[in-house]
Amino acid sequence: MYVIGGGPGGLAVAQALRARGLRAVVLERADRVGASWRRHYDRLRLHTTRRLSALPGLPMPRRFGRWPARDDVVRYLEKYADHHQLEIVTGVEVSRVERAPGGAGWVLHASGGRELTGAAVVVATGHNHTPRLPDWPGRDTYTGELRHAAEYRNAAPYAGRDVLVVGVGNTGAEIAVDLVEGGASRVRLSVRTPPHIVRRSTAGWPAQYTGVLCRRLPVGLVDRLARPLSRLSVPDLSAQGLPRPATGLYTRARQGAIPVQDAGLIDAVRSGRVEVVAAVEGFEDDKVLLADGTRVAPDAVIAATGYLRGLEPLVGHLDVLAPDGTPLTRGPHTPPNAPGLYFTGYTNPISGMLRELTRDATRIATTITKTEAARVSRLPR
Ligand SMILES: Cc1cc2nc3c(=O)[nH]c(=O)nc-3n(C[C@H](O)[C@H](O)[C@H](O)COP(=O)(O)OP(=O)(O)OC[C@H]3O[C@@H](n4cnc5c(N)ncnc54)[C@H](O)[C@@H]3O)c2cc1C
Repeated sequence: MYVIGGGPGGLAVAQALRARGLRAVVLERADRVGASWRRHYDRLRLHTTRRLSALPGLPMPRRFGRWPARDDVVRYLEKYADHHQLEIVTGVEVSRVERAPGGAGWVLHASGGRELTGAAVVVATGHNHTPRLPDWPGRDTYTGELRHAAEYRNAAPYAGRDVLVVGVGNTGAEIAVDLVEGGASRVRLSVRTPPHIVRRSTAGWPAQYTGVLCRRLPVGLVDRLARPLSRLSVPDLSAQGLPRPATGLYTRARQGAIPVQDAGLIDAVRSGRVEVVAAVEGFEDDKVLLADGTRVAPDAVIAATGYLRGLEPLVGHLDVLAPDGTPLTRGPHTPPNAPGLYFTGYTNPISGMLRELTRDATRIATTITKTEAARVSRLPR
């Protein structure tokens, strides 16, 4: 059987299948595993703990510290693939998945004209697959510099320049702080909806642990519990343009807006080094139009405006996607109209995505062992 994508999600599933004596081949379009992590910005550290971010069957080394750095995560993924002797074919991009003639299994159309047939397929191409740049009016004729955050590595190209960061998710917040620390002359952060901000840890207790504990509690209850905690740990930034959100923390998280972990944003906003401005409405020549009617002319705009799943060309024709492009089923569940097609990594839970990928890997592999696909994919003993 095949796993599409050699990121943490795909590697974890391949390991879980192999551990159950099943052959799984990972198809990865890049030339190495962990391609997404290699592209992330330099200062990135996990905001989930080392212990709760390890994939099944191999802990992350203690020397990574509590919050592993990007390069350590990449090293870990390489080691993980080697350690478990995973079967990975790099440089192969799967463009379309189709039912095998006769209905049992799947045909994968891949680069180089390959057609691969598998009894089951796990799609693990990533939640953050395709950078999303809103279709702002005037965007195409804007004469200034506009880049998606996916292209951002560090502040060096922005030293001494006036930069507008659009979007205050974890990425936008962290890039804004990085720019300030890296010598940008002015940093503005364009915010449509004020985010929930949480400390990465409080008195040694990581926010992720709270996320794990609260995950199964009723949304309204978590919203109510989070409100006083937030007042205690995060100062009021209303005067600086970041009022406390009206909608509860867990409600927002369930809508896809996970809280922003403070990596210096609170101090930077409080001290005025990051200026909060209104949402971007469009562009006009070299100007950016903001929702409050002002026009600004930064030297560069960095759009931290999220990603699309990009699953439509791959599986859109199989009627397995919701209108927002996310799979209708996940983890061990396969769509009734597409048995044997599994998806992992298309949610963003408050308990941490890597932890979720690990749990899903085990569940998917356990489910597959009970299917016909397992019978034809058994590894020789
Ligand atoms: C900036 C950032 C920070 C994050 N920090 C954390 C954190 O601290 N803790 C946490 O738990 N989670 C974090 N996440 C979320 C999540 O854990 C990561 O995005 C993680 O890499 C997801 O793993 P994945 O395998 O699902 O996707 P990816 O890592 O994106 O891997 C998908 C792989 O599939 C390949 N691929 C895509 N399409 C095809 C195709 N058609 N054919 C073949 N190969 C294909 C890609 O090249 C890629 O290697 C973070 C995400 C981002 C963006």
